[in-house]
Amino acid sequence: MITQTKESQAALNPNSAITLLKEGNERFVENKKANRDLLGQVKQTTSGQYPFATILSCIDSRVSAELVFDQGVGDIFSARVAGNIVNEDILGSMEFACKLAGTKVIVVLGHTSCGAVKGACDDAKMGNLTTLLHKIKPAVRAVSEPADESQRNSKNLDFVNAVADTNVQLTIEDIRSLSPVLKEMEDNGEIAIVGAMYDIADGKVHFM
Ligand SMILES: [Zn+2]
Repeated sequence: MITQTKESQAALNPNSAITLLKEGNERFVENKKANRDLLGQVKQTTSGQYPFATILSCIDSRVSAELVFDQGVGDIFSARVAGNIVNEDILGSMEFACKLAGTKVIVVLGHTSCGAVKGACDDAKMGNLTTLLHKIKPAVRAVSEPADESQRNSKNLDFVNAVADTNVQLTIEDIRSLSPVLKEMEDNGEIAIVGAMYDIADGKVHFM
């Protein structure tokens, strides 16, 4: 598996970049990970990096973007924060990744059984985590079913996963509304901004 170069990155468009990620996840799920010389890739990327994708995912130990998309050194930018939400620092990182470093796609990657989403569903409060979970609350409110208040908590995994799904969609809306730089790039077809959900039960990434 080759390391991304200036030429290979330039030859990609948003659609082909998404295809590379889908193919990588297929290899991961089939346990046919590409044979990479990671130390060789370190040497190949010493003078520069040409990643093709930017992934925003949760800090969850089971959802490492490089692993689940079977990517190597220098292939993707990986931003991680509990509940895969955005703030101005993450938006700035994404603007760097797309506008200055040339990545073709932003993927907001949520996952099933997300602890941060469960915390938001339960209205958990603790230190700085309270502020972070507050950013997931709009997704909790946006999921209308079930209406029964006793079913709207972390014990109801269907509800938790529906909130995680909605949280991905709302995060994408946040990216578009809070980053004119990225919105313009998307409108010009230079990048795509897409959502996906990782299933912790089988390793599959489902693109929305
Ligand atoms: Zn999570």
